[in-house]
Amino acid sequence: MTTDRKNDWGTLIRPEMLPDSLSRPVVTPLSPSVVYASLTPDELDSQYEGRAQGYTYAREGHPNADVLAARIDAMEGCDGGLITGSGMAAVTAVLMGVLKAGDHMIGSDQLYGRSLRLMRDDLPRLGIATSLADPCDVDAMRAAIRPETRMILIEVVSNPTLRVADMAGIAALACEAGLLLVVDNTFTTPRGFRPFDHGADIVLHSVTKLLAGHSDVTLGWVCARDDALQKQIYDFAVTTGLTPSPFDCWLAERGLHTFGLRFDRAEMTAAALADALAGMAGVKRVLYPTRTDHPDAARAAELLGTRGCNMVSFEVEGGRAAANALTEAARGVAFAPTLGDVGTTLSHPASSSHRGLSAEAREALGMSEGFFRVSVGLEEPDALIAEFTRAVAASQAV
Ligand SMILES: *Cc1c(COP(=O)(O)O)cnc(C)c1O
Repeated sequence: MTTDRKNDWGTLIRPEMLPDSLSRPVVTPLSPSVVYASLTPDELDSQYEGRAQGYTYAREGHPNADVLAARIDAMEGCDGGLITGSGMAAVTAVLMGVLKAGDHMIGSDQLYGRSLRLMRDDLPRLGIATSLADPCDVDAMRAAIRPETRMILIEVVSNPTLRVADMAGIAALACEAGLLLVVDNTFTTPRGFRPFDHGADIVLHSVTKLLAGHSDVTLGWVCARDDALQKQIYDFAVTTGLTPSPFDCWLAERGLHTFGLRFDRAEMTAAALADALAGMAGVKRVLYPTRTDHPDAARAAELLGTRGCNMVSFEVEGGRAAANALTEAARGVAFAPTLGDVGTTLSHPASSSHRGLSAEAREALGMSEGFFRVSVGLEEPDALIAEFTRAVAASQAV
């Protein structure tokens, strides 16, 4: 049972006692070890100096994170990606790991709420100036550039109004002005869109959402095209402890095996649900990227092709009372502010993600009390459409 490298420290608490096996497991083993023991200081040197591959301490990296990162790297068409403890940890690692006091960055005005908050409340406190601009309007982006601007952060499809960014225009602008273009690809996923093929310098994800897909882990991923930049992001993440748990990485890898199947199925159902909603009495408008009545239909077709992704937004007539009746009647759908789960979830921006805004400001963004965002899951399409038919009818009966 012992090999040369195994010890016979019979009196020690942790002798090495894994049974030998000529065959190997087909499932990635879960490696919760925080520390890794080396044989000699020379071996440790060779690891630290990059002459040998090995782990030392889990905050700096562990096998489950590396296996998961390599899978997402392959999907995004890059290598050397880093798994972080959440999607926001990935956003933070990029913004705080790359920018310094005196720099300025521009964000899309429709970013994920916490990304906006990091830009509004935290970066300025550290001497990093920020501005917001509409990602559908490249001239507005250009107008926001200052001499000290270093970075632009966008999402390709915005939450919750599903606007499609002018990716080509922004990529050309970033290139011309020498700015780093960072794309949060959580909504579109690499199955819908691969930002590195369209000029992105850094791509990041909330793995929590569609990639892991089961609402049971919180994780992120980030990769920079440039190795030195990726090293800078990695060092910041390790120093500040934005580390993922091995068990979460293991679960996310398990979820990722079915990601393609889940995404295609949810997308097909989302397209059918969007069309069904558009025909229901009391529905004022439906937003779905492949529908010809989408405000950015031409750009969506150019960037996403026939991919519409799994998110649908719609607006019903009536105020809060109609909204209450709708969620109450949609008992089979979780009214919960997340996305990308195997089950369909319904969110109401006016009472959740955008509750901080005044009613007028929300109205200007097209998010009235009757506005909903649906993250479509894996239910039978007909059953889901029947659920929404009932719920919309209930909302109009009040
Ligand atoms: C959820 C989300 C995040 C944050 O991810 P967490 O894993 O919740 O920290 C960032 N960007 C987008 C677009 C998201 O949907």
